[in-house]
Amino acid sequence: MSQNEEMTQEQEQEQERTLRVGLYGGTFSPVHNGHVQAVKAFMKQMWLDYVFVMPARIPPHKEARNLPPAAERLKMCELAFSGMEGVLVSDLEVRREGPSYTVDTLRALTAPDTRLFLLCGTDMVLTLDSWYRADEIFRLSYPVYVRRENDPVLEERIKGKLAEYMEKYHKMVRRIVVDPIEVSSTQIRDMVRRGEDISPYVPAAVCRYIKEKGLYRDGQEE
Ligand code: ATP
Repeated sequence: MSQNEEMTQEQEQEQERTLRVGLYGGTFSPVHNGHVQAVKAFMKQMWLDYVFVMPARIPPHKEARNLPPAAERLKMCELAFSGMEGVLVSDLEVRREGPSYTVDTLRALTAPDTRLFLLCGTDMVLTLDSWYRADEIFRLSYPVYVRRENDPVLEERIKGKLAEYMEKYHKMVRRIVVDPIEVSSTQIRDMVRRGEDISPYVPAAVCRYIKEKGLYRDGQEE
C-alpha cells in the first residue's frame, strides 16, 4: 500500500472523532507566496479542520535584527490569508513575552480530541531536533515538512534526518507535496531595498501594505 493510501485510510477513520489542527509558525517578514502555497497544501493534504498561522514575536531560530514590529508582520499575514477558509492568523505568540518557543504554543493548543500537526519548511525540518524541548514538540504534535526548493542533493540529507527522528522520537515526519516556490523573505527584503518589483512573489495586498508603510527600505534592516 502506498503512503498516500495509508494516510487516507487513517485520516478517514479518525476524522469523525478528532479535530485536526495545523500550526505554521515563522517570522513572516514578510509573508510570501511560498508560505501561502504551503498553507493551502498543508490544509488539503493533512485534511485539516483549520490551520493557525502564527507569526513569532521573537523568533528563537534566527537572528532578526531590525525586525518590523510584530503587529505589522501579523497584519501582512492577515492580508495574505484573508478569506481562506480554515486559516486563522493568530496573535498568540505576538502577545506572549519572551522568545516564541513552538513548544509553548503547542502546549497552549493541546486539547482533548485534537491532533496537532506542525508544518516546517526544509531548513526547519533539518534542524527540528535542536529546537527548544524538541522531545516535547514531537510528543505534542505530528511534524510535517514541505520542500521550499528543488535542489535534489537535499533529498538524502532530509531522508537521513527523518530516520534519526524516527529512531529518537518514534514519529514519522510526513511530507507535503508541492511544486516549490523558491523564494524567501530575505530575498523579498533585498528586492525592496533595491527598488525591484516584488509582485510576482508576494500577495498583492501585502505588496501594497509594504509600499504604503515603507517597510524594508534602506536603513530599515541589516
Ligand atoms: P527568511 O528569509 O527571513 O529567513 P523565510 O522565507 O525562511 O524567511 P520564515 O518566516 O522564516 O520565512 O518561514 C516560516 C516557515 O515557512 C519555515 O518553516 C520555513 O521553512 C517555511 N518557508 C519559508 N519559505 C518557504 C517557501 N518558499 N516554501 C515553503 N515553505 C517556506
